[in-house]
Amino acid sequence: MIVTVAFRTLGCRLNQAETDAFKSELTKFNLREVSGSEPANLTVINSCAVTRAAEAKTRATITAARRISPNGKIAIVGCYSQLAAAELLDIPGVYLVLGNNEKYNLFDFLDEIDQGEKIVRVTTPGLAATTFRTGYHSSLDQRIRVNLKIQEGCDYYCAYCILPYLRGAPRSREPQDCIAEIRQLTEQGVREIILTGINLGRYQSPEGDLAALIRRLLDETTIPRIRLSSIEPDLITPQLIELIASEPRLCRYLHIPLQHGADTVLGLMKRHYQTADYAALVDSIKQRMPEICIGADVMVGFPGETESEFEQMRRFIENIDITYLHVFRYSARPGTPAADLGDHIPDSEKKRRSAILRQLSGRKRTQFMQTFSGKVCPVLFEEKIATDTWQGLTDNYVKVRANSKEHLYNRIRKVRIIHVSGDFLKGELLSE
Ligand code: SF4
Repeated sequence: MIVTVAFRTLGCRLNQAETDAFKSELTKFNLREVSGSEPANLTVINSCAVTRAAEAKTRATITAARRISPNGKIAIVGCYSQLAAAELLDIPGVYLVLGNNEKYNLFDFLDEIDQGEKIVRVTTPGLAATTFRTGYHSSLDQRIRVNLKIQEGCDYYCAYCILPYLRGAPRSREPQDCIAEIRQLTEQGVREIILTGINLGRYQSPEGDLAALIRRLLDETTIPRIRLSSIEPDLITPQLIELIASEPRLCRYLHIPLQHGADTVLGLMKRHYQTADYAALVDSIKQRMPEICIGADVMVGFPGETESEFEQMRRFIENIDITYLHVFRYSARPGTPAADLGDHIPDSEKKRRSAILRQLSGRKRTQFMQTFSGKVCPVLFEEKIATDTWQGLTDNYVKVRANSKEHLYNRIRKVRIIHVSGDFLKGELLSE
């Protein structure tokens, strides 16, 4: 009989939000969650297929689950299921494979898989998809920060990206539904909501765009912090920038995918902007909010990327005022236009290019952190890391440590920054 369930989540914030939605169903089915390191009757793996490395991680997670729970059953749901359902079902221990449309019915199949049936249900999400599915997080244990899924799907079809094929067309969650859940989470003690989607800036309801939604969330809930997850540069509107600049509850933080710093490559990637647009956007945001943290995804090794194009990207990044990079190495995704271009850049070269950008990212982050010496920042404290030492995050995404005998867990307090110490800022707690 299936009683205990372990969850493993790979990939993006949206997957984390969706795993939370699965967890909120446990009580209804008389199931109990155990940690990923304990044996479980069922291990649910919410998979990712955005790169080859993500697929390899999903397979390694299956192997680890079999080692921890040799007699347990495994369910694979999400993006990798969408792409390789038959292969996954063949793996010993895997009894259930559900695609992105089917994963919310995960626990309806318990009896069948308990009796040893192997089940696969995967349909193509399809561009005509109109339903927006997510569960409530209401059964979560108290947490400080929660990813709230408000948008699904993408129709940008960047040449390298498989997500539009796996997640379907853009669709959005009703504002009233978002408000109801945020109110409930706030009552449970959650202090920060991260608004999450596949292409978040494509959020659209009958009442308006993302900025209109955020205006309502700020007016109609008391959540202390709202943060945006990744948002495409062409979808950052002046209204959104003005909201972030003027609303202290909206975190001064933006993650704006760049992907490349050479216009030739951006063109081949079928991105919706050129480097000059991106630079102008970063400039205008920084002029309005010098202390905002701006992160960017970048990709090395896109088919045909020359040394000179890579160097253009490095120089471009060096010269714009962004804070850090998430560096990805290109890998061909079957069925995408870029896959037909081949994958010519050797892995060793991709590694070299990505190491150069990671170093650059480290330097930029340290420079950003150095600008905070002597400033006062609001910090949401999350853990006690040593006797009387607490650690938390500023709204602009910098780790801060401060000494205090007070219990600071889940509290937002002002801290005067003293200096940078490795990957965090050391500060002194100000009295309330
Ligand atoms: S915007 Fe481009 S990279 Fe992002 S999910 Fe859509 S297709 Fe993929």
